This record gives sequence, structure tokens and C-alpha cells, in this order.
Amino acid sequence: MDNCIFCKIAKGEIPSFKVYEDDTLFAFLDINPVVDGHLLIIPKTHHENIFETPDELLEKISVLSKKLAISLKEKLNVKAVNILNASGKEAQQSVFHLHYHLIPRFENDGKNLSFHGEKKEANDLERVKEKLLS
Ligand code: AMP
Ligand code: ZN
Repeated sequence: MDNCIFCKIAKGEIPSFKVYEDDTLFAFLDINPVVDGHLLIIPKTHHENIFETPDELLEKISVLSKKLAISLKEKLNVKAVNILNASGKEAQQSVFHLHYHLIPRFENDGKNLSFHGEKKEANDLERVKEKLLS
């Protein structure tokens, strides 16, 4: 992808605050961090989102998420992490090169995942389950 900012970051064509690199993956600080230590993990190859990314890469990203989460704990005294991925514009994806956010969390940090669930009747849940299994 010629015009993809994350492809350019992975190739070193534009600068980033790199914290990890291997043959297939690259991790760097988000330029608009929710909190200090907010990281992005990307594959070096261009895949728009989770729907288009090979399983082997997703497995590697998962393992690297754990490794970097441990670094955040040990080096930045982070207590917990949120690992987030937006796949598709309706899910608020804004950069269309797959990336996982690793967001450090602290007690009383004032941050909030703003998804609010609503209680549903068993019938409604059953209907959704049947659709998914059909
Ligand atoms: P999303 O909205 O999930 O697609 O996340 C895209 C993220 O990429 C945002 O949190 C941006 O702050 C971040 N971002 C965009 N451009 C850069 C860049 N050049 N370097 C680091 N992070 C970036
Ligand atoms: Zn790309």
C-alpha cells in the first residue's frame, strides 16, 4: 500500500517511537496516547483489518501483546492493560492497516471503556445464538 502511514512506519520511511521490531511485527508509541506507554502493534505487511489478516500473524500479535504488556508492568509500573482493535470504520477504525492498541491502566486513572451493556431476555439471546450457528 503506497499511501499507508503504518506501512511507511514499518519500513522506517517515516519516524516513529519504535519499541519492538522483528521479521514480521513492529510496535511503537501511539502519537496521541491515552496514557503514557500507549503502544500500537502492527504487522509489517499491509492488511486492512482483522478480517483480512492471516491467522499466523494474529497469533504472533497476540503473543507479542503479552510480551509488551509484561514490559509495561515491569518498566512503567503499569497495573493492567486494555488490548483493543478496531476493525472497520463502523468500529471507529481510523488507520486502515491492522493494529492492536495496548493501553496501560492504573487504579483510579479516570479512564473508562464506554461500552454500556443492556440486559436482554433469554429469548433474544437465543435468537442471536441460533443465527450465528446457522
Ligand atoms: P484507530 O482509531 O484504532 O484506527 O487508531 C489509530 C491510532 O493511530 C490512533 O490512536 C492515532 O493516534 C495513531 N496514529 C496515527 N498516526 C500515527 C503515527 N504517525 N504515529 C503513531 N501513532 C499514530
Ligand atoms: Zn499499510
